[in-house]
Amino acid sequence: MSSKKIIGLLGGTFDPIHFGHLRCALELYQAFEMKEMRLIPSHIPPHRQTPKASADHRLQMMLLATQQTPFSVDESEFHRAGPSYSVETILGCRQRFPQEPLCLILGMDAFLKILSWHQWEKLLELSNMIIVPRAGWNAPQSGVLADLLTHHTLAPHEKISDYRAGKIVQQSVTPLGISASFIRSLTAAGQSTRFLLPDPVRRYIRKYSLYSQDSITDPIHQEVVH
Ligand code: ATP
Repeated sequence: MSSKKIIGLLGGTFDPIHFGHLRCALELYQAFEMKEMRLIPSHIPPHRQTPKASADHRLQMMLLATQQTPFSVDESEFHRAGPSYSVETILGCRQRFPQEPLCLILGMDAFLKILSWHQWEKLLELSNMIIVPRAGWNAPQSGVLADLLTHHTLAPHEKISDYRAGKIVQQSVTPLGISASFIRSLTAAGQSTRFLLPDPVRRYIRKYSLYSQDSITDPIHQEVVH
């Protein structure tokens, strides 16, 4: 039993970061009274297409989005060559924080793909998991993932902060149907992305013409947003 404060780990491509990520991170940070919430951009995602924006642009947008928040941006995957395997990142966190409860945060969509992750069996040896339900993605009812939930789910009388690793908890957050791909397609179509992501990030996207095929023509994009 550790009863130390939790360190949350939210990985993703963040191409770009948006209010779905930020609100989810904030609600979990508060619900679990975390010591830290680390947002971890993937440098070279092993299981999906290369991000549209460069690693540096994605990082800069995250730094803008996390100003005056309790979140930090963990750049460790940018300092490693080759595919960004989460297991290596979490191992690095475990070495840095040997005693603290670590909680890897996964949307249900991400959890359902976890068997394809490099050395996925090691994830629960290194960390707990917080799984966030997402519309359209149901919890597995049979198979390896269902067994994983059965064996590792925290009992109602247990506290996840008492465990350094090995436990799974499902925690709902306010569902926001925002995705980075939607933001990219709106931008490419010249439509406004207002109210989907922080204004400083929208300004950054506009400044560097990220995600657009051509220059953006939507008048809403021309507004100065303070
Ligand atoms: P894309 O549309 O490019 O696939 P995305 O918006 O799903 O991107 P990712 O960077 O792939 O964002 O997601 C990182 C993590 O954040 C994943 O665990 C994912 O489930 C979670 N996540 C993404 N969008 C939301 C959202 N709207 N609400 C809660 N969690 C989210």
